[in-house]
Amino acid sequence: MIYKRSSELFAEAQKVIPGGVNSPVRAFNAVGGEPVFIQRAEGAYLYDEDGNKLIDYINSWGPMILGHAHKPVVDAVIEKAKKGTSFGTPTQIETEIAQLAVKMVPNIDKIRFVNSGTEACMSAVRLARGYTGKEKIIKFAGCYHGHSDSFLIQAGSGAVTFGTPNSPGVTEGTAKDTLLAKYNDLENVRELINANKGELACIILEPVAGNMGCIPPAEGFLEGLRKLCDENEILLIFDEVMTGFRLAPGGVQERMGVKADIVTFGKVIGGGLPVGAFAANAEIMGHLAPEGPVYQAGTLSGNPLAMAAGLAMLKELDSNREIFNSIDEKTAYLHTGIAEALRENNITHTINRLGSMISVHFNDTPVVDFETAAMANNDTFRKFFHGLLENGIYIAPSAFETWFITEALSYDDLDKTIAAVRKVARDLK
Ligand SMILES: *Cc1c(COP(=O)(O)O)cnc(C)c1O
Repeated sequence: MIYKRSSELFAEAQKVIPGGVNSPVRAFNAVGGEPVFIQRAEGAYLYDEDGNKLIDYINSWGPMILGHAHKPVVDAVIEKAKKGTSFGTPTQIETEIAQLAVKMVPNIDKIRFVNSGTEACMSAVRLARGYTGKEKIIKFAGCYHGHSDSFLIQAGSGAVTFGTPNSPGVTEGTAKDTLLAKYNDLENVRELINANKGELACIILEPVAGNMGCIPPAEGFLEGLRKLCDENEILLIFDEVMTGFRLAPGGVQERMGVKADIVTFGKVIGGGLPVGAFAANAEIMGHLAPEGPVYQAGTLSGNPLAMAAGLAMLKELDSNREIFNSIDEKTAYLHTGIAEALRENNITHTINRLGSMISVHFNDTPVVDFETAAMANNDTFRKFFHGLLENGIYIAPSAFETWFITEALSYDDLDKTIAAVRKVARDLK
């Protein structure tokens, strides 16, 4: 395939946008080469600026669970736009989408809409701190909760006492309130709690991790966290920005039957427009301004176009719940096919999957946390990625990302993908 026009556009972009992109992972730094510029998309396919057609497994990093340019979503946005794009006043559609979200998701009474997953997680932590009157939080290495300061933390020398910044611009003061734990390691969490007795406001995690590849929670992990939180008066925050309205209508809380105190959303809930949200029971949400003292606001929060897209998306999912089984089955089919193709060619690998989230790791140990995910052979991944792209298959340009399966993918698309994996695997040998 030829990517001449993309290459020219990337050169232009780099002159006026840092790195040529508005979000770093788009820049292909992890795999080398230059990003593909997309012109339009429909269903399971992306069409780039050079006229190439690609089968898409990124799907805008999750939102397009029904495929690109899904008609009910697009129509809803067009109709709304004709009536004005923003008023800065309450609108009826905000209540409509809130009612539907509260109906679909267990354990929540009220929901507040924001503009991104980052905002949702940042605000959820502030609410947890305001509610509990405590300051420290626990997050897990490899879990992503957006780019707000409290989350850009790496393990410091005294990780049991505090984390250290992993980006310039994050202050030591902020970092000291974020403790870093190992995913799927309850004992580690218990240790952190004991070393910081009475100081912890919340534990935040991706209840099925999707930002270090897909890493499902070990048996008893979520239940164990629930118990530790209850025993120590700590709020449990499920960051369901990726898993919400994907792994089940009610997200991981429904799928795994574990209750969170605060839940955050993004991606699917916005139908491809910039939307995030956080939700909890009425008592916790009652602490939020203007009902309560914890401040949180947004000029464009609950924007009519964004709400129209989100509402159309949630309605489709709510009224056609067979979709959730269908995408899970497609993902299982892909899993089997890819595993066979790699095995035939003796490529060392581990495939992790839960529901419609799947990731391929070139690893000979099980991938259960950030450490084991980081042990994979990145050189093999790089070749795998570029091999697939050359064959018209677009997966995320990083070994630490999940592939997102959509209802728009046909079994023919999946077969083409498996055939491409087989071809690339032969060259990898
Ligand atoms: C994508 C993501 C975020 C951040 O959402 P943005 O909309 O990119 O700010 C937060 N948490 C999880 C689990 C995510 O996957």
